Amino acid sequence: MRPTIVRVALPVPIDKQFDYQIPSGVNPVVGGRVSVPFGPKTMIGLVTELDDKSDFDFDKLKTIKQVLDTEPVWQANLYELLFWCSQFYQYPLGETLFNALPAQLRKGKPAAFTPLIEWHLTLEGREQLSRGFGRAIRHAQVMQTLSCGPTFHQDFIDQNITSSVLQKLEQKGWIEPAECIPKFHLPDNVEAQVDKPKLNQEQAIAIASVNNHQGFGCFLLEGVTGSGKTEVYLNLIKQVLEAGKQALVLVPEIGLTPQTIKRFRKRFNLPVEVIHSGLNDSEKLNAWLSARDKIAGIVIGTRSALMTPFADLGIIIVDEEHDVSYKQQDSLRYHARDVAVMRASKENIPIVLGSATPALETLHNALSGKYHHLILSTRAGKALPTVNKVIDVKGQYLDSGLSAALIADMRRHLESGNQVMLFLNRRGYSPALMCHDCGWIAECKRCDAYYTYHQSTDEVRCHHCGSQQATIRQCPNCCSSQLVTVGVGTEQLEKQLLALFPDFKTIRIDRDSTRRKGSLEAALNSISKKEFQILIGTQMLAKGHHFPDVTLVALLDVDGSLYSSDFRAPERLAQLFIQVAGRAGRASKQGEVILQTHHPEHSLLQTLLTKGYRYFAELALQERKGSHLPPYSFLTLFRAEANQVQLVEDFLRQVRFTLEGHPLFKEHCQILGPTPAPQAKRAGKHRWQLMLQVTSRPIMQKLLFSAKPAINLLPNSKKVRWSIDIEPQDLS
Ligand code: ADP
Ligand code: ZN
Ligand code: ZN
Repeated sequence: MRPTIVRVALPVPIDKQFDYQIPSGVNPVVGGRVSVPFGPKTMIGLVTELDDKSDFDFDKLKTIKQVLDTEPVWQANLYELLFWCSQFYQYPLGETLFNALPAQLRKGKPAAFTPLIEWHLTLEGREQLSRGFGRAIRHAQVMQTLSCGPTFHQDFIDQNITSSVLQKLEQKGWIEPAECIPKFHLPDNVEAQVDKPKLNQEQAIAIASVNNHQGFGCFLLEGVTGSGKTEVYLNLIKQVLEAGKQALVLVPEIGLTPQTIKRFRKRFNLPVEVIHSGLNDSEKLNAWLSARDKIAGIVIGTRSALMTPFADLGIIIVDEEHDVSYKQQDSLRYHARDVAVMRASKENIPIVLGSATPALETLHNALSGKYHHLILSTRAGKALPTVNKVIDVKGQYLDSGLSAALIADMRRHLESGNQVMLFLNRRGYSPALMCHDCGWIAECKRCDAYYTYHQSTDEVRCHHCGSQQATIRQCPNCCSSQLVTVGVGTEQLEKQLLALFPDFKTIRIDRDSTRRKGSLEAALNSISKKEFQILIGTQMLAKGHHFPDVTLVALLDVDGSLYSSDFRAPERLAQLFIQVAGRAGRASKQGEVILQTHHPEHSLLQTLLTKGYRYFAELALQERKGSHLPPYSFLTLFRAEANQVQLVEDFLRQVRFTLEGHPLFKEHCQILGPTPAPQAKRAGKHRWQLMLQVTSRPIMQKLLFSAKPAINLLPNSKKVRWSIDIEPQDLS
């Protein structure tokens, strides 16, 4: 029988789908897009079901306007994954599905390739080749490239050849454009000829373990920086490509460097698509289609690339699996690593989670046998382990955050021709501005936070809501003009280093100094060329870059992490420390890592420094077990914010009451709050939270699933902005 009703998911914040009549003569498909009337608007929706009956009065249903796809936009297994995500993360299905679609498909564009422009030599062009191009170097470069074969327009742009150069050559009649849609074909050799290192025994074992495994399996590949994890990935991907399948590689936001991409492209004779937030909408769509229609062999991307459809996915790799950027902090608050494991299981393929510092959750799964545990214990090549040292700064004079001992060590390394890297996770000149006469401190009016002083732009800025104003010259409290800075940020450190080490050049890498597109890349390049000897950075500088001449790395201020209210702070510090240590002495030079602290005796620091990450992690796991924290329990964070504090508090009290009334609650749950969030006010809104702690994931799901409709109906639920964060990573 012909269905008469279509059920449609729409990108609206409502936990349900909508029924429409199907007019005669059109045939919507499940998984395809339709346009429908919704209130006064026309919206694009995704068909989730075809039916011949509805819970609503048939005659009152509206009719769909247009069918946009004759085939589903993605395969059933991706739809299933997204459906699961929507349920697990308690996020409306329509919004979950639309989150995963490229912007152009959300707007109704056809789900088909925009042909690429490819340049060819004309006959005249060929003749011109023998005559040469005089001093027109760019022209010669283009013509030489084309003499080896047609080349994509984008490839020229990537080589910094502008469209106008190409147009000139076209006007001369030497080259001509053609539209083309790339086709996937398996080359005889998936690997391009490059000199590959000979695998060591641990690498060979790791590769064999994954290759010999049938179907789904989750592998933790634990290996220090430089131990050859990427080499393992490349070998695994080779096998997958040879079997005619595709590979997905996820990297943290900051890990997607040109170096990484180049390494993959150089290795294989198959298209490598890169998906990240910097692409424009049509580039994103093409990359997405290229995976779906099996043109790309490999997709490398950040978190959102996980939702890319694949014709024939053979393996998923999650590099730096512990990285916090895998967790989305708004809308669909998913953890890309966890969803990747679910995807691999649904597609029945292996997944490899790589890290030098596995997340405690992942390590727990590996130690308990749920995941296979593969270990690379030594650095590949000649690199030596680092020497670690703690400087006790209690009672010592600090010169813009630097102790005398550290300055002496820096001098030693610099004078022997090496580079030094300093970490300070605080950008700006100083984290506060204070009145010397009365102690008044400049605070953001909209947040529960101090203003950061930025000397370069002579303004104060709130790092929480982004508001800024010209710097304050007079205390509003006592009218004194004696305003002083408190604490040290990267900007101040940079200035002081210029004074301390006038013979050495300093570069600062933080969000302020790398705002312009391409500036981070340029900075990293000039560091590689040793144009700078002293590198200052926030966490941004910690990841993935290979600087063989850095021999000293120092963390200037770690005390905040030792005594933070966030139970994950020690884990994060340990990961940062190991990551940073991985920057030192990556080549054959001995590296040194220095930590400045007021608490050198801190047991966690001691374990980390003397015994390494694994000991630290096992100790930290024991502590978590003792206090029933993840991975020994499962958390859900309810957040609420509003202009009036009473509204949020009342709302969360009602949520608590609703949860406590559930039959599963008593035996399996604990609840903390409502309490003000650590950052109790942001951008003018009061922020409160409520933490639910449950003994198992299925029970957490069951409880939330049945409580959520009741929460939606709470009287205050429409008056506050609230959200549910399943397995939260950020507790601020
Ligand atoms: P990771 O991903 O763990 O940081 P990489 O795979 O990038 O490590 O390897 C670090 C460096 O060591 C690279 O330059 C790589 O080419 C090299 N390398 C990897 N495996 C070997 C090996 N078995 N023998 C020699 N060099 C290797
Ligand atoms: Zn004052
Ligand atoms: Zn603010």
